[in-house]
Amino acid sequence: MKTQIPTPDAYQEIREAMRDLCGRFDSAYWQKVDTDRGYPEAFVDALTEAGWLAALIPNEYGGSGLGLAEASVIMEEINFSGGNAGSCHGQMYNMGTLLRHGSPEQKKQYLPGIASGKLRLQTMAVTEPTTGTDTTQLKTTAVKKGDRYVVNGQKVWISRIQHSDLMILLARTTPLAEVKKKSEGMSIFIVDLHQAIGQGMTVRPIQNMVNHETNEVFFDNLEIPAENLIGTEGQGFKYILDGLNAERTLIAAECIGDAYWFVERARRYASERVVFNRPIGQNQGVQFPIADAYIETEAANLMRFKACSLFDAGKPCGGEANMAKYLAAKASWEAANTCLQTHGGFGFAHEYDVERKFRETRLYQVAPISTNLIYSYVAEHLLGLPRSF
Ligand SMILES: Cc1cc2nc3c(=O)[nH]c(=O)nc-3n(C[C@H](O)[C@H](O)[C@H](O)COP(=O)(O)OP(=O)(O)OC[C@H]3O[C@@H](n4cnc5c(N)ncnc54)[C@H](O)[C@@H]3O)c2cc1C
Repeated sequence: MKTQIPTPDAYQEIREAMRDLCGRFDSAYWQKVDTDRGYPEAFVDALTEAGWLAALIPNEYGGSGLGLAEASVIMEEINFSGGNAGSCHGQMYNMGTLLRHGSPEQKKQYLPGIASGKLRLQTMAVTEPTTGTDTTQLKTTAVKKGDRYVVNGQKVWISRIQHSDLMILLARTTPLAEVKKKSEGMSIFIVDLHQAIGQGMTVRPIQNMVNHETNEVFFDNLEIPAENLIGTEGQGFKYILDGLNAERTLIAAECIGDAYWFVERARRYASERVVFNRPIGQNQGVQFPIADAYIETEAANLMRFKACSLFDAGKPCGGEANMAKYLAAKASWEAANTCLQTHGGFGFAHEYDVERKFRETRLYQVAPISTNLIYSYVAEHLLGLPRSF
C-alpha cells in the first residue's frame, strides 16, 4: 500500500499548488545550491511571485490574508518537496512584528513592498555571543540622540542578512540597572540594511554545518532614524515574544515536512533495496523504526494543527506552539536518523539528498529555541513548577 504522506487534510488545494511550484525545483537544484553554499534565489523568487510568502499579510497591504494554518502548510510543503524553507521562513514571521506593533505609516511604507516582493524582511537580530538564550541580558544598546538612535554592540547567528533589505533589531534602550523588570527597557527597530551596512554595521558570515546564510554582526555607532522604532520604546522584548508562537508553529510545520520526506524516502528505499534475496523493508528491524517515525510525525502534526487553530482563533497558544515545535523537531530528527540508517552507505551519498536533509533538520533542536528551553517553558508555564533561571 502506498503511504499517504502527509495525511490528507483541509488544505489539499494549497498542497497541490505548492507541489506544482516546488516540483520545478528538483533534487539537482537543491544539491547544487547546497554544494555552492548558494542561496535558492530562483526558488524564493518563484515563491514570492506566486504570492506564497505574503500569505500572512492582510489583503489591504497586498497579501493574501491567510491564517497560520495555511502558512504552515506552505512551509511544510517546501520541506516535504526536498527543499529547505529555512532560506525564506523569516519573511513569514518577521513581518508579523511589523503588522502587530508597527505604526500605520510604517505598515503603509513597508508591507506592500514586502507583499509584492520588492522588499525582503528576512532577518531578525536578537541573539548575542555573550548572553545566548538569556536575552534580557543582551548588551547591544540603542541610545537616542536627537532624531536618531545610535547603536553599539554585537549580534551572532543572524540569518539571511545578505538576502534581505530590512532587518528587525532588538537592542537595549534603557540600561538594565534602571528598569524594574529585566524584560523592560529593550526596543525593536526596523533597519534598512542598504543604509546600515558599511555605515556602522559590519557583517561577517559564519561557515556552518548547513547551507544557511548566517552571520556575526557588529554595530559601531550605527545611526537609525528615530521613526524606525517599532511600537513603544522599552516594550521590544514583549513584541518579540508576541511573534514567537507563529515562529515556533511554522518551524514545527517545516520539521513535519522534513519528517514525512524522510519517512517516504525510507519507505521507498526499504521496499526496493534487496539484500539476502528480500527487500530490506521485510525485516522488522528495518520496518519498525520507519513505522515509529511515521507514528511520531502524525502525532506532532496533530499538535501543530492544534497550535494553528488556537492562533487563528486569536486564543493563547504558547503551550501548544512550544509543544508542536518540540514534537516536530524530535520527530524529524528521529525520522532523519532512521532514513539514513535505512539507506546504509547510500545515506551518505550527496545524490540521495538524505545527508543534506539530515544536516538541515538537526538545526531545529537548537534554533530558534533549544529543546531544553521548551522543557523549561512547559515545566514553568503549563505545570506550575518553580522557574529554574
Ligand atoms: C544556523 C542558525 C541560525 C540562527 N539564526 C538566528 C537569527 O536569524 N536570529 C537570531 O537572533 N538568532 C539566530 N540563531 C540563534 C539561535 O536562536 C540560538 O543559537 C539558540 O537560541 C540557542 O542560543 P545559544 O546558541 O546562545 O545557546 P546557549 O544559550 O549558549 O545554550 C547552549 C546550550 O545550553 C542549554 N541551556 C542554556 N541555558 C539553559 C538552562 N537554563 N537550562 C537548561 N539548558 C540550558 C541550551 O538549551 C543549549 O542547548 C541561529 C542559530 C543557528 C545555529
